[in-house]
Amino acid sequence: MQSVNPLNGEVIKDYIPHTATEVNNKIQSANKAFKSWENTSFETRSAYLIKLGEVLRHRKEELAELMALEMGKPLEQGIAEVEKCAFCCDYYAKNATSFLQKQLIDTDASKSFVSFQPVGVVLAIMPWNFPFWQVLRFFCPAIMAGNAAVLKHASNVPGCAMAIESVVREAGFPEGLFHTILIGSKEVDAVIEHPLIKAVTLTGSTEAGKQVAAKAGSLIKKTVLELGGSDAYIVLADADIDKAVEICVNSRLINSGQSCIAAKRFIVVKEIAEEFSSKFHALMKNKHYGDPLQKGSSLGPLARHDLRDQLHTQVHQAVAKGAKCTLGGFLPEGTGAFYPPTILTGISKSNPAYLEEFFGPVALLFIAENEEQAIDIANDTSFGLGSAIFTKDQVRGEQIAETKLQAGSCFVNAQVKSDPRLPFGGIKESGYGRELGLFGIHEFVNIKTVYVG
Ligand code: NDP
Repeated sequence: MQSVNPLNGEVIKDYIPHTATEVNNKIQSANKAFKSWENTSFETRSAYLIKLGEVLRHRKEELAELMALEMGKPLEQGIAEVEKCAFCCDYYAKNATSFLQKQLIDTDASKSFVSFQPVGVVLAIMPWNFPFWQVLRFFCPAIMAGNAAVLKHASNVPGCAMAIESVVREAGFPEGLFHTILIGSKEVDAVIEHPLIKAVTLTGSTEAGKQVAAKAGSLIKKTVLELGGSDAYIVLADADIDKAVEICVNSRLINSGQSCIAAKRFIVVKEIAEEFSSKFHALMKNKHYGDPLQKGSSLGPLARHDLRDQLHTQVHQAVAKGAKCTLGGFLPEGTGAFYPPTILTGISKSNPAYLEEFFGPVALLFIAENEEQAIDIANDTSFGLGSAIFTKDQVRGEQIAETKLQAGSCFVNAQVKSDPRLPFGGIKESGYGRELGLFGIHEFVNIKTVYVG
């Protein structure tokens, strides 16, 4: 297993994958730690989590540099990611106790209540795009609920995977409660089969989600799946266009375009199509890629050369099927896995691009006859992760967000983002289950009914 710098293709470090015996030992050790951890108080768990937040803040520069080297994230974005992880630690340290309080329910019993009991060791299969945030947003609620965790991170970020284990250790968590296992995706089925693995969470592609869910489902083990997305941002005729353009561009280019909740499709009604398109084009054109370690780089290389080449093939095929590329769309020279901000227009329903996710800085621009058609295009996808609507009529915006858009999160005049205080997840092929918030912490617990006659 190698970590390779996408800036220049150089190998940063070789890692020896764990053997099946080592993986088994780590799962056994996590389960042993779980047996004590499940009996600890919320106060004890909170104290560890607060300490973890401190360690993350203390090491944020070092961890951001690691992300920049291993998957190309610009340094400032990496620091912001680690700070968000620390905020998540604080949030669950403070709120998990009330989220997990037992709930008395009036029935014909002398006493009946619902209690939230941990499930045991949870396997987390995580992607490379937000190597710390994706893991911490699972870890914080799961650990506060009394579980233990084993992490199988993406194969291109073993350095980040080991660093997460190291920050958890530095925070003083009991030995074994959290382990990183360095294995490839082919070895995952055997881990899911392990009797001590009680549940699985996966963030990644829809294909990986289907395979993991099928395996876990065959063993009746619960899964939470946070998969791909092709978020649509609708811009109505009465929108504040400058604000909408700025948010749309930021959302398309966040993490160099490699985010499940990046805006990928922009659907503008015809009255404002020309103004929006020209301002959007100008702002996208103004964004430049560079060395992620250089201060001020807002776009880094994509995380892997193969992902960049795959993205370029998608663009190429979209154009071959009739789309127009009005910006970017070329493979830059040099060794970095860079891809330029790119805009595709004129994408017909028969073009494969109409239904595909573009996991990089490629924007798909659609013009709708009216609001109704804009909503139809937004929903005409197999995905359902996030969505946004831009209008000065807040009441109308809220109504469309709440009742018309088919997605797990719908934002009005704002960029879709995850927040430890709000549930996060998708519908349709974007997955199921929720992370974060009150709802997220209830995914990996036994919601137990206790009835006293
Ligand atoms: P994958 O979905 O392949 O990888 C995500 C994680 O799942 C990795 O840890 C990977 O391990 C693991 N995995 C992959 N296949 C399986 C499997 N069959 N069984 C068990 N675990 C598996 O993402 P890629 O890196 O290949 O990226 C491809 C596409 O996935 C992107 O273009 C994007 O569309 C989507 N994606 C979505 C993300 C999101 O945030 N929702 C994040 C990353 C990617 P390993 O690395 O060892 O293969």
